[in-house]
This record gives sequence, C-alpha cells and structure tokens, in this order.
Amino acid sequence: MDVEKFQFKGYQKLLYTNNSPDILNVVYYHLQLNAFQPGSDMDIRLQNIPDPDRRMVNNLGTKENPVYQSRIAELKPNEIGYQKVISLSQNGKKVDYEVIGTILKVVLNEPIKPGDKATFEMEFEAQVPLQIRRNGRNNREGVALSMAQWYPKLAEYDDEGWHISQYIAREFYGVWGNYDVTIHIDKNYVVGGTGYLQNPQEVGHGYEDKNIALKLPNSHKLTWHFKAPNVHDFSWAADPEYLHDMILGENGVELHFFYKNNPETNENWKKLQPKTAELLAYYNKYLGEYPYKQYSVIQAGDGGMEYAMCTFITGGRNLGSLIGVTAHEFAHTWFQFLLATNELKHGWMDEGFTSYISSMAENEILDQKLENPNEGSYNGYYRLVASGVEQPQSLHADMFDYNFAYSNAAYSKGAVFLAQLGYIIGEENLSETLKTYYADYKFKHPKPNDIKRTAEKVSGLQLDWYLNLWTQTTNTIDYGIKDIRDKTIRLEKIGTMPMPLDILVTYTDGKKELFNIPLQEMMGHKPTKATILPSWSWVNPSYSFQTKKQVKSVEIDPENRMADIDKTNNNNF
Ligand SMILES: [Zn+2]
Repeated sequence: MDVEKFQFKGYQKLLYTNNSPDILNVVYYHLQLNAFQPGSDMDIRLQNIPDPDRRMVNNLGTKENPVYQSRIAELKPNEIGYQKVISLSQNGKKVDYEVIGTILKVVLNEPIKPGDKATFEMEFEAQVPLQIRRNGRNNREGVALSMAQWYPKLAEYDDEGWHISQYIAREFYGVWGNYDVTIHIDKNYVVGGTGYLQNPQEVGHGYEDKNIALKLPNSHKLTWHFKAPNVHDFSWAADPEYLHDMILGENGVELHFFYKNNPETNENWKKLQPKTAELLAYYNKYLGEYPYKQYSVIQAGDGGMEYAMCTFITGGRNLGSLIGVTAHEFAHTWFQFLLATNELKHGWMDEGFTSYISSMAENEILDQKLENPNEGSYNGYYRLVASGVEQPQSLHADMFDYNFAYSNAAYSKGAVFLAQLGYIIGEENLSETLKTYYADYKFKHPKPNDIKRTAEKVSGLQLDWYLNLWTQTTNTIDYGIKDIRDKTIRLEKIGTMPMPLDILVTYTDGKKELFNIPLQEMMGHKPTKATILPSWSWVNPSYSFQTKKQVKSVEIDPENRMADIDKTNNNNF
C-alpha cells in the first residue's frame, strides 16, 4: 500500500473448486472499485434516481429545493477508484479476459469440470477512491483507509447461474473460501479487519502478547498476515491514529475495537465494549453460536456496514446510536456472513431479519421495556404503503424506482415479515424457527422458500400464502368490524391479503374473551389460549360468529402484531 497516493499493488492466487454439476467455460470476477469513476453505472444511476443517497451527492440547491450533484462525477483521476488487471493466468497459462464495468469476464483456456480445481493467478493495481460509499480513503471522520470491495473478487455461481450484477448501489453475494491475506503498509498504521492475525509480535499495535518481546522489522513498513477460514469476503481498515482495545466475549471470542482518539467519543467507545459482549451472547442464544474466534468493531466507512468478522461504522455518535449501529451490524454476521443469503435478490432476508433481531436485542440489552420492539419497522412499512411507490420485496435490490422504497421494503417490511410471522405461528414457534433456520442453513445461502419451509416444519402450519403475498406482491391487510348485534359479531375482509385473526371481546359484564379465527389456508392455528372459531377462507369477504354473552366491545389483533394498514375499523370503541 502506498499511503501517500492511495494506490496499491496486489497479487492474488485463487484455488477454485467447481462444486457445481456444470462444466464452466468462463468465470467472472467483481472489480468493484471501478464503480467510483465518472460515467460508471453507479454514477449514472446516482444522477437519475429521484432520491439519491445523500452521502453520495452534493446539494447545490437548498434544503427545500435540492439540486443534487453526483460526487462520483466530480472525482479527479487521482481520486477515482480502479482495479486494473496486469496479468491473469489459469493453471500457469495466460488467459483472455475482458473488463465490463465492474465485472471481469474470463474466458477459460480449459473448462473446469464438476469437482475439478483450477488455479488463477492475478497481478493487479488499484487506487482507493475518495470515500463515496462504504469504502474509500479519508472518510468524513478522517479514517485513512476503509478497505471494503478492494480486491478482484470471484463472483458466485450457483443453481441460478452466475451472479454478476454491476456494482450500482446495493449489497453482496459471495463464494465461501479460506482467505490468507498479507498486507504491507507503513509501520505507523494500525490495521483491523477480517480474520486472525498470524504474526502479532511482528506488528504490535495492541495485538501483541505483552509478556513476549516484540520482533518488529527494521523497515518502514510492517507485514500483517491474516487468515480467515470459511468466509465469503475479506475487509480491513487502517489508520495511524486508531486506538485499539480488545475484550473477551462468550466462548473466548476476541472482540476488538478500533477508533480514532477523540476525547468527545472515547468514553462511548469504552462503554460500547461490554455491550458488544452482551450482543454476542444474545445472538448466540437466540440465533445460534458465532463460529469464529474474533469480531472487530471498526470506526470506518460511511455509516454502518457489515463485513466478515467485522463491521465499519462511523464513530461520532452518542452512546445509544453507537450501540444501536453495532447491534444491527453485528446481527448481520448471522444473516449475511453465516447464512449468506443473496442480498441483491432477497435483501429483506438479510436487512429485515437483522433489523428484527437487533431491535429485540437492543430492547433487552438497553432495558428499553418496549411492548413491541419492532414498532419502528411496522411504522416504516405503513409509510411505504402510504407513499404509493411500494414495489414487491422480491424485486432485485438495484431495480427499485426509489431508494426509499428499497430500504423500507428490505428493512421495515422485512422485519415485519418475522414479527408478523410470530403473530401467525406463535412467538415460541418463531423463536424455534430462527434457531432451526440458522442450524440448518448456515454456510448454505438460503432462499425465501427455506425460511418458509423451516417455519412450516416447526409450526405444522401451511405458509405458502404468506411468503407469496407478503414478499412477491404489494397486497395489503385490512380487516374491519362490520357490525355487532347483541351476541353476533360480523367482520369484513377489506384488504387483499388474508390473515388469521385474534379477536378480543369484552362483554357487558366486564369480562374478556380472546377468540382466534384460523385462516383456512393454514390448515390449523398457532398455539393459543384463545377460543378457536371455525376457519375463514380468504375467498369470503365477510365472517360472523356468535358469543355466549352480551358484547360490549370488540377489538381485532389487540397486541398490534398484524400489519393492518387501516386500524380505524379494528375496534368499535
Ligand atoms: Zn443492515
């Protein structure tokens, strides 16, 4: 790494195993730093989307009448990002390749047969762009190097074929591998990131065993050697002013913290450390055990972004925000780095599930005592519906017409998918579903059907209707109370998405009774103490039932777990 010019030279040796049943004649790599150039697809998209990411634009207008300018379009040649392939060989022989935006297409000399291996060797040169999005140099908090999406990275090939979306905005999908990474950088830089440092005594900077003498080399650069088994990405950050702390979490996992020495925020970064250990214990308990030996919380990047065994977060935050962002990014480890769903196609399974569990974790760890920790996600979903620009969750993440529509579909509606699943199958079944899902699908890139099947097997209930309508359509839920005539209650289904119903009836004598109307499609109902009524088929727009006593009031879904878009007709108060 040349820390003056922000350029680096790389050598990559990749031993690739074709685990597919297909013969491969081409392979593809991502060259994601190429996105940070004027005229790139990322730049053009940024200039044309009506609500660009504010971090990526300058506002030349006013707050009320913004005029956005793409920051990528303004980059000078010494500020852009690039990855240039200098040489590439397959099994020792030069191989042809073509660069198409952020994708490198390699036409193989000899096909790779199912089960066979090939070795690719590449020399490349790269420049770290000014920090625009996620990675880059000199972020707004003065972190020198946020090194994500920094190396030519093999694309994923699976039962759907190659996954080679241009790097426009959204997130990632990767190939499992064992990484062995050596970084040569000026000796005053502190490095944190993915993997286990192999030579702590040769670098020091807080990694060393204090009881053994350091063996620092007599040169102006240090050599950092990391190994990271069974990950699908490798990221690192470096800065000469990092403070570096380490504490031990559950099962002896090393929790590292890298942050800029700043008297205003240092105390928050200290208080964050035991809370991160509590988060680890929470996710171990409610999802499944963290399988790696270290995790690093690193002040870098432009907000919060999850990476393998680490996260880049901005650090100038109050304590609540610092813990909140860490809770979210750390939870991503389970969904993005262990289950490893394709986020470009199923962003809701990553962002949504992460939001769900991190809200639950924050509620416990910060002792928030919230009745519904995911209320914010429900509200985000309601805003999305009201906006009129909702598109189905199953849309490719880059293709949403508005960033607003993507983020609310992925984060809010995705979190509600789980919170509402708890309403449908019962909270204990949901909890069991999450643990079983993790146990069965970690390291396997699960798809939407896998979470549905897990929930079906755990609960014994049929859920195809839920997966289809919630994730592939913009259908909405709206039930209402039509009328109440002494002991007869008539309900109506106004919305286009059916649901099972919890109905709380208060009698004129002041006593209450909870009823449950199963959805016929589910072939059963959740475990509940409620009085079970005959099921309601989705084809019927209305439903009525009789009570034994005179009715005073009726309330649909008294716990507010069903995402009914019009609650005004949910009770007769
Ligand atoms: Zn996230």
